[in-house]
Amino acid sequence: MVDRTETAKPVPSRKPCLTAVLRMAGLRPTRQRIALAELLFGGPHRHVSAEELHGEALTAKVNVSLATIYNTLHQFHEAGLLREVPVDASRSYFDTDTSDHHHFYVEDEQRMIDIPAASVVFNTMPHPPKGMTVTHVDVVIRVRKQQG
Ligand SMILES: [Zn+2]
Repeated sequence: MVDRTETAKPVPSRKPCLTAVLRMAGLRPTRQRIALAELLFGGPHRHVSAEELHGEALTAKVNVSLATIYNTLHQFHEAGLLREVPVDASRSYFDTDTSDHHHFYVEDEQRMIDIPAASVVFNTMPHPPKGMTVTHVDVVIRVRKQQG
């Protein structure tokens, strides 16, 4: 095993940046919101359920209830920081990538995989109801591992 202690550099804190992001989204940067934003946005784009984020928060010693996690995720979603991808009536994933794209949902692993927007093409799309406009189209393609 390689000892990396000599080359390891301290990771710069993203707190000032996240505070600004929350303010720009119209959310007061409370300690809890900043802590959850660090968990959500501290790495590459990801998909997370409220239950998964709750587990990560407890591991990171961020003492929040599951209800607070739900509220915060919905506030972040309302503020445009997250995209909600519902997979069934009782389960949603929150995507840190808010750009247009679609998803595979791996049912037996409860995991989402991104599909680039351009990979899904519709031959026909119904016209939206009168006076309405399409905001975006979410496609979730459900997959599972092949047996054998
Ligand atoms: Zn995604």
